[in-house]
Amino acid sequence: MAFVQPTLSVPTSRLQESQDLLHSARSAGDYLPVQKPTKSFWIDSPDANPLATEGSTGFLPAAADICIVGSGITGVSVAYHLATRFTREEPLRVIILEARDFCSGATGRNGGHLTPNAFIDFSTLEAKYGQLEAMKALDLESHTAKGILEFISSQDIVDEVDLVAGGHVTMFVTDDEFCRAQKDYHAARAAGVDLSNVEWLSKEEMYSIYGVPYPGAKYGGHNLWPLKLVTYLYNYAKFKMPLSLHTSTPVSTISPNKVGSPHRWKVHTPRGSVSCSYVVHATNAYASHLLPHLRGPSGIVPTRGQVMAVRASVPLDQFKGRSSWDANDDFEYWFPRPVTTISEHPLVILGGGREVESRFEYGEIDDSKCSEVVSKVLRDFLPGLFRGKFELGREPVMEWTGIMGFTSLRDPFVGPVGDLDASSSHDSNYKGQFIAAGYSGHGMPRAYACGEVVATMILAETRGESWSAPKWLPHHYLTSQIRRVNDNQTMPSK
Ligand SMILES: Cc1cc2nc3c(=O)[nH]c(=O)nc-3n(C[C@H](O)[C@H](O)[C@H](O)COP(=O)(O)OP(=O)(O)OC[C@H]3O[C@@H](n4cnc5c(N)ncnc54)[C@H](O)[C@@H]3O)c2cc1C
Repeated sequence: MAFVQPTLSVPTSRLQESQDLLHSARSAGDYLPVQKPTKSFWIDSPDANPLATEGSTGFLPAAADICIVGSGITGVSVAYHLATRFTREEPLRVIILEARDFCSGATGRNGGHLTPNAFIDFSTLEAKYGQLEAMKALDLESHTAKGILEFISSQDIVDEVDLVAGGHVTMFVTDDEFCRAQKDYHAARAAGVDLSNVEWLSKEEMYSIYGVPYPGAKYGGHNLWPLKLVTYLYNYAKFKMPLSLHTSTPVSTISPNKVGSPHRWKVHTPRGSVSCSYVVHATNAYASHLLPHLRGPSGIVPTRGQVMAVRASVPLDQFKGRSSWDANDDFEYWFPRPVTTISEHPLVILGGGREVESRFEYGEIDDSKCSEVVSKVLRDFLPGLFRGKFELGREPVMEWTGIMGFTSLRDPFVGPVGDLDASSSHDSNYKGQFIAAGYSGHGMPRAYACGEVVATMILAETRGESWSAPKWLPHHYLTSQIRRVNDNQTMPSK
């Protein structure tokens, strides 16, 4: 078969270099979210964010039992999971403090994919942590997707959150990428992972279905409107337990409360301070503002991602399905949004391009701007790949940035806040403080479950019970394990 060769606007084979640079990433400056972020399709479409300015003025409670900092999917998941386990006999007052508008961080600015990992990176994880941990990493993502889908179904809000069960296609644009994926697939299969929903497509099959001459793998996945999901989760939690949200309330510092106070911590904001017994750091990329020991490559490195919403030149049926896609070692990702008529040309949400920036946007905290070089390659990406389906030179309907939080191991930190400095034994300095952060650009299938872990840890403590880890939780996500990993200088191989 003779192929019409696509033109890729982005460089390939940059994964190793990006990983090497991440290990030496240094960032300076203040890590509070910047004001006036770029307008994102998810946040700035009409009526999309009814809670945007909730609690931004007026009364700020002087005390709460649990203070959650950050109103993205992690912070709201913690509140949701507290609410689902809350009993009237143990009334908890929970407060969410948010620096900007509700859900205006990465969750309100991402690519909209809810794709639990099927097998990619399995062999790397297995080599590093063993087979059981590699399997748990997949389990946590399935658990998240299942939990979110059950919530959406129980609330009957499939259309409200634009949930599409379209599956996901990973397209391999280099032989090396394809070979690594095959190795991962075989390692996962040998471990007994259920891969019955994975379909490999040769480049001939991909060309005849989608018009792109690269091999691919298709597996389960959804796309949705993340902010709307988080809004429903918040409203559910608020209905179930005493919960308040205070936007435009950046937390500047956290200090110990006076001896004898019923609450351990004082959380300071420009609007006054809140005393509380528990603090949850759900600040992801911005975590090191309040936890300076998380600054730098052994902590959480803020990393700017860029996304656009661009109109296709053909109707949705020419996309041959509703799947989301990723390619080029997941640097680029996209999916067509739902349409209201069959003749409508869909908006396609496309993210990526940071591999054209010399430092891969590591250490970049400013989401009030887009990168010009990234804008250029993103504009050319879909027209170059899917000939005839996108118009070269067409301006996007919207283009925005958001800040991800990368860890050197690309896995999040979950659990009680400790000090990552191996020579220190100051964990008790943070007693009552918890964190779930550092999803390294893959948060939708992980943050919800990590929020659940933190909620159950806090409840176990308030009830005087011992906490036991759910069977789907990878041990290596836990903050108690991270210090050991850092002691051993373990780093990912890829
Ligand atoms: C451009 C981009 C594309 C992405 N695409 C995808 C994708 O398609 N699929 C996927 O799985 N993942 C994707 N991700 C990653 C995913 O969005 C994140 O991992 C996830 O949303 C993290 O959720 P969070 O609640 O932990 O953080 P956030 O959503 O960033 O929430 C943190 C909140 O804390 C607030 N905050 C920070 N510091 C303070 C403070 N001191 N005081 C008060 N508030 C504070 C922030 O304003 C923010 O609202 C993408 C991310 C970006 C940026």
